[in-house]
Amino acid sequence: MNRSILIVEDEKEIRDLLVHYLRKEGFQPLVAPDGETGLAMARSEKPDLILLDILLPKMDGLEVLRKIRTDREISRIPVAMLTAKGDETDRIVGLELGADDYIPKPFSPREVVARIKAIFRRSRKDPEEPEEKIYDHAGLRLDVARHEVRFKGKPISLTSKEFRILQALLSAPGRVLTRESILQKAWGEGTHVIDRTVDVHIAKLRQKIPFLSEAIETVKDVGYKLRED
Ligand code: CA
Repeated sequence: MNRSILIVEDEKEIRDLLVHYLRKEGFQPLVAPDGETGLAMARSEKPDLILLDILLPKMDGLEVLRKIRTDREISRIPVAMLTAKGDETDRIVGLELGADDYIPKPFSPREVVARIKAIFRRSRKDPEEPEEKIYDHAGLRLDVARHEVRFKGKPISLTSKEFRILQALLSAPGRVLTRESILQKAWGEGTHVIDRTVDVHIAKLRQKIPFLSEAIETVKDVGYKLRED
């Protein structure tokens, strides 16, 4: 599948130029003309990378970056900032906010493509990347990168929340997880979801994977525990 790249840039000429070159390189470009649209598209499209201009109408690039980095659903997407040449303050603030790279304007499209490829190479190699993780537990296999769950080789379709809850349990077999900690892992900090939601999702998991009705133990008034093999 082609990697999608969201271009958040208000100058149409630059946008069109980037679209043209990215497409030629086999990427799938998406475009947003202002910060607000860019953030909304990052959330809805979950692109593989974002090229983010700093001076943008509606919401500037640094604010967009801040919002991306604090939104659990999209916080891991690499972001390369497009900056006016020599603007040190923007560079520093952006790096603190977690930008992956800086591309000073004016740039050549070839340079942009090279930087994008470098970011993809780096993110693949990172050994700390939890996305690479595969959990194996008594015939149950969860592959984070592929977003895939199999039981005894048979694929099982889970919603993203069910997937995250299962991942949380698999990452701590034998340990009791409180409903609150499960909520945090599956929904992120400061969530407004109520505890009961966890019970509903656990019930779904047990229904979809009958093995789990035994393997996930209910710890009364506390939470849940995945039995060790
Ligand atoms: Ca601009």
